Amino acid sequence: MSDNSKVRTRFAPSPTGYLHLGSIRTALFCYLFAKSKSGQFVWRLEDTDQERFVSGAEAQMRQVFDWLGIAPDEGPEIGGEFGPYRQSERLKLYQRFAHELVDQGLAYYSDLNQAVIEEAKLKAKQDKRSFVFRGEDFDRQLGDNRANVPIRFRMSKVVGDTVTWKDSIRGEQTVNLSTIEDFILIKSDGYPTYNFANVIDDHLMQVSDVIRAEEFIASTPKHQLLYQSLGFAVPNFLHLPIVLGEDKKKLSKRSGASDLMLLKHQGYLPNAIVNYLALLGWNPGSTQEVFSLSQLVAAFNPKSLQVSPAIYNQERLDWFNTQHLRMLGMQELVEVFKPLIKDYFDPEWEASRNFLSNPDDIAYLERILTVEKDKITNPKQYIDKIYFLYRRPKFDQTVLDRFDLDKADFEVVVERLLAVLESNQDWEKGELINLVKGFIKSSGLSTKFVMMSLRASLTSQLGAMGIYDIMVLLGRQESLARLNQALEE
Ligand code: GLU
Repeated sequence: MSDNSKVRTRFAPSPTGYLHLGSIRTALFCYLFAKSKSGQFVWRLEDTDQERFVSGAEAQMRQVFDWLGIAPDEGPEIGGEFGPYRQSERLKLYQRFAHELVDQGLAYYSDLNQAVIEEAKLKAKQDKRSFVFRGEDFDRQLGDNRANVPIRFRMSKVVGDTVTWKDSIRGEQTVNLSTIEDFILIKSDGYPTYNFANVIDDHLMQVSDVIRAEEFIASTPKHQLLYQSLGFAVPNFLHLPIVLGEDKKKLSKRSGASDLMLLKHQGYLPNAIVNYLALLGWNPGSTQEVFSLSQLVAAFNPKSLQVSPAIYNQERLDWFNTQHLRMLGMQELVEVFKPLIKDYFDPEWEASRNFLSNPDDIAYLERILTVEKDKITNPKQYIDKIYFLYRRPKFDQTVLDRFDLDKADFEVVVERLLAVLESNQDWEKGELINLVKGFIKSSGLSTKFVMMSLRASLTSQLGAMGIYDIMVLLGRQESLARLNQALEE
């Protein structure tokens, strides 16, 4: 039997879509909370909404946990003492507890048509009265057949006028009972509602701390009433601040920052994402910003969780990614880039070269990455910048326009540069600097013009890395070929 005083948190998503960053942050806080107290982190799948079920969502969740390293101690497929961890596999349990409440008069079967309730609601609105559904207000005789008849909680049996609970970061919360309807516990399809199954499972799974998104505050009074009626001990509650998108709107499963796997394919590191999400609404209480997951566990203190909304900010995520990329050794960095580069180039080209599977390709990638290792923020965008190191770009008039170079002047300078460079067999960086600088001096041309002409011929694009590094990486033969190509245009 497990120790009741132990901290146990749970992440209880519904598989109604893929997890977005806001939910992933909830999972992370549940994990950090539990691990910082040597407790357990439980993953439970709240799959009771058959209509909104998205197949593949559970597998995506598993991928997210694996990739970010926030491994649940218990959960679907993982197992554990309190399973099963999919609510759809626990239906009998909910039925049992619902029947207990019915037997005590605290719940009742109600086959009242939703349309009748909606009509009453509308009427109340027209009469400017408030309306809260209570079964007693409707005269109704239930037939003998209880199959497919929903079970509702009976509010009139609750003693008192208000329900009160304490949120760990928001303090005491009170709600008037007159605002709560006779809510459904078991639906007509025999499945429990979120409210009911959530309470039963948090109790049976011995959850000590319910940590979840702010949007569930509205459901908490109902949960409190269920805890009371079922005679269950009440866990601690902590509602995390909402995460808003850069547009200040709620992050949704569809919004830009939603897809973690997309971030993965752009070369964001799991550590950077974890670090960024942890600081989205939590303050470590020091000036330290860069943390590994284990450092976060050590530093985590729920008292420093903020209550006001947190705003997702891509630039800040990029900053964390840069910091974490810098901490990687060359081999690790190569491993980050390999799949991205493979993805980037078309599969045919890749296959014909057996691309990146041989030591020469790896050595070349290492040489590229060595040049600007500390400046890389977003690996995918970086590949855009260094594309020309893998493939010779097409050279045409548009390149000259982009560089604002006059065709005739450009051709003269490239021709003369070619002559200088061709005469030189040594292709080492220092030597190339001397050669080009010597050429600039003797020709009387401006440094900028010469550099731009070289860059246009070799890369066809503005920016990227230093021109001498580019020449060295391309090598003598390829650099000269590109200069010649620029003349042929
Ligand atoms: N199933 C709810 C969700 O989709 C769980 C909320 C809770 O943690 O209580 O997030």
